[in-house]
Parts: sequence; C-alpha cells; structure tokens
Amino acid sequence: MKKSMKKGLAILLLLLTGTLLFAEGQSESKDMSLNESAAQAKYVFLFIGDGMAMPQISAAEAYLSAKEGNAANQKLLNFSTFPAQGMTTTYAYDRFITGSAAAATAMATGQKTAIGVISMDPGKTESYKTLAEMAKEDGKKVGIISSVDLDHATPAAFYAHQPSRNNYYQIGVEAVSSDVDYFGGGRFRLGKTPEGEKNIHELMAEAGWTIAEDRDSINAIQAGTEKVYCSNHGFADDALPYDIDREADDVSLAEFTQKGIELLDNEDGFFMMVESGKIDWACHANDGASSIMDTLAFAESIETAIQFYNEHPEETLIVVTGDHETGGLTLGFAGTGYETDFANISSQTKSYEYFDKFVLTHYLEAGSSDLEGLMADIEKYFGLTELNDYEAELLEKAYIRTVAGDEAVSNATEDKLLYGGYTPLTMQLTHIQNNRSGMAWTSYKHTAVPVATFAVGAGEEMFHGYYDNTDIFTKIKAAMGM
Ligand SMILES: [Zn+2]
Repeated sequence: MKKSMKKGLAILLLLLTGTLLFAEGQSESKDMSLNESAAQAKYVFLFIGDGMAMPQISAAEAYLSAKEGNAANQKLLNFSTFPAQGMTTTYAYDRFITGSAAAATAMATGQKTAIGVISMDPGKTESYKTLAEMAKEDGKKVGIISSVDLDHATPAAFYAHQPSRNNYYQIGVEAVSSDVDYFGGGRFRLGKTPEGEKNIHELMAEAGWTIAEDRDSINAIQAGTEKVYCSNHGFADDALPYDIDREADDVSLAEFTQKGIELLDNEDGFFMMVESGKIDWACHANDGASSIMDTLAFAESIETAIQFYNEHPEETLIVVTGDHETGGLTLGFAGTGYETDFANISSQTKSYEYFDKFVLTHYLEAGSSDLEGLMADIEKYFGLTELNDYEAELLEKAYIRTVAGDEAVSNATEDKLLYGGYTPLTMQLTHIQNNRSGMAWTSYKHTAVPVATFAVGAGEEMFHGYYDNTDIFTKIKAAMGM
C-alpha cells in the first residue's frame, strides 16, 4: 500500500514534470513561430474604422441579429471572429480625447503627436517616416483607400507630412509626388485649390497618374498599371456617399479595395491602408442607422481582404482597428430601459444628410411653416409614426428652432446639448429614431474609450492584449520584418 502510493506519487511527479517540460517546450515553439511568422507578412492590410469602437461594432451586430429575429443568437461581423483581439488606447500627445490626425499619425509612424498634426512631431518641425513609406523602401507596393476625401487626416497621415490637417491643397500636392501606387475612394478636394494654382487632378494628370472617376473606367484599368488614382463622390462633397444613400452607379468601398488588390498584387508584396471614414461622420451627427450601414460596408471591404488571405494565408496579415470612438454611443437608452428594438433601424431609409439637403431644405424653401406637412416624409425617411406626446413636443421645439435659425437660441448650452450644431429638426429625428431602437449618444465629438483591434494571419499573435495605438505601427512593422 505504502509502496504503491510512493510509486503513484513518482508517476504523478513524472507526469507533472513532463507536463511542465511540455508546456515550456510548447511556449518556446510558440515564440519561435511568432518570430518566423513575423517575417512572413508580405501582404498587409490595415483597416481603420474612423470613429469605430466596440459600440459601433456591437450596434451593427445587434442590428444583424435583430433582423434575423433572434437577439440571443448574436450575428458577428467577419472581423469579430479574427483569432487575435486586443484593446487599444488612443490618447494624443496633448489631449486625452484624440482626433483623426493624431491617431492616424500614431498608427502610421508609431509616434504621439499633437491634435491636427499630420505625421510630424508636436513642434511641427520634424517629419516622421510612415509605414507606407517604409513598405515602399522595402520594395512593396502601397495602396491608400478611403471612403472620405483622400486628403482627409487618416489617409493623409500615411503619405503626407503637414503641420495642419487643414492644409488640404499641400496634402494633395504631396500625394502627387508620393510613392503611393494606388489611391482609391473619395476625391482630393478640388475646391481647396489656391487662386492661380492648378488643381490636384491637373497636377496628377501632368505627373502621369492614370485617373478614373466612374465604375467603367475603373474596371478598365489593367492589373499591373502603376500610379493609379480612382475616385468617386456623393451628392454632398468629395467623399463617397453614406452607404445608406449609395445608388447603383456609386462605387463602393469594397470595390475600391478589390481594385487595390488587383493593382497591387505582386511577388514583393504590398501594404494597403483602407479607411472607412464616414462611420465617424455619421456618429458626429448621431445618426445610428448611417453608422451601422457604413460599418456593414466596411465589413464588406474587409471581406475582399479575407478572400485574398484565404489564397495566401501564410503571407498575409489583416489588421482591423479604429482611430477613436465618436458620439459616445451606447446600446441602451434611459427611456427604454432594458428593451431594445434594433430591427427598427431599417425603418430609416436615408442619412440625416440626405434628409437635410433634399427634403427639409426644399420644404423650408417652399415657405412651409408647419411641421404637419413634413410628417409623411418623416415617416418615409425615419420610419417614425405614432409619436407620443413627449416625442411630438421635442419635434415641435426642434422645428421652431430650425425655422427661426439662430434667433431661436434661448439657451446656448441647451442648444449645444440638444443639437450639437446640426440642423435641430434632423438631429431630433435621428435621436428619436435611435432612442426607440435602444441606442443613445452622449456627445457629438470623439470620446476617449479604447478601441478594439482584430488581426488574422502572419504575425497575428502580436495583436492580443491591451496596448497603445502607437503599438499598431510597431507590431505591423515587426510583422513585415522591417
Ligand atoms: Zn471625427
């Protein structure tokens, strides 16, 4: 009995030691595989959802789940199932709540900078080298894609160096002579051309760029063509339209991404940055439906990268992250308590911007003076029927305020809290729409909550954990073996 116990103990000890050794051996080989795979990321996709943190991702997933009629069976976006996941802090050099320029600079260069600065130091004298520039020096092709204007802060931080994000023309001039092989998405802002200067399209044509501005001419560009600039823009500005407003002729972010893969695919690899910029714009305007639809369009563009990854799993890295949260969005509203109705989101058919520009403006210009005449459109565009007394009162107040303009501001603080500088009636409509669905907002600006980061492919192991946005640069650089 005693002997067999001793024997048992010995076996147990052996087993334990064996297990320990095995575990150690395993972690060693894991470290090795990390280093090995780290040098293999030949094709790199960095997807940045502007204004996209967990609330924006979760809202899109809650909507998908609710549409299927089963909130308990959560539908996930494609990138939510990536094997590596982390949380990322976003603070800027000089402000806790960051902006797109400082956040993109952090991810593009690994350096914290001041609000509004594009890939330069906070003192605005020294330029920082970007991931895109390093990838180019390493012999890779580079693509910069965005659903907003290509001279906007996020894309700019990968190819330009400017003391201010507002130097749109200078940013465009840098794009013309940059080493970028493919620009795709919204237009460079032609309206920012200084008096007497050539606009960016003219400069690009002179410098030999192939320019395409609609689907047919974009499709006609052959794989392997160098220096390509493909753009499209919506009704409002130089950016792509909100996905909720997108019409058949409008080229989607997924199409621009697919074109990038086609043009950049070569045996030395590529670095591609794809930004979904209008999640941020929708959230500034507290328009939950537009944010959700742009998040879904973002996932579609990520799908094209996943297909590429499936063909080259050993050599491809896909990283998906956000630059900051926008709007202080949360899933839950004081007025609806524990109840949510995310399927209600689909009763909104156009963005706040479309309603502002094509419905409300025309109505007001026609000299209409009461809210009643707008109710059919309010139902058509926001799905709002059977207003309760409180909602009707809020709308009436916002309508009076809209018609009277700034003269109606009785309390500037209240005005700012209620409408955030947007058209009061439209803002009240998105608020009621979102609140009924179970979404609520605390700001019209960015917030400081960490963003989520997801990764799959070569070097994915590095993206687990809790780290800073400057580490996105460090990790991608290591994964590319640069
Ligand atoms: Zn923003």
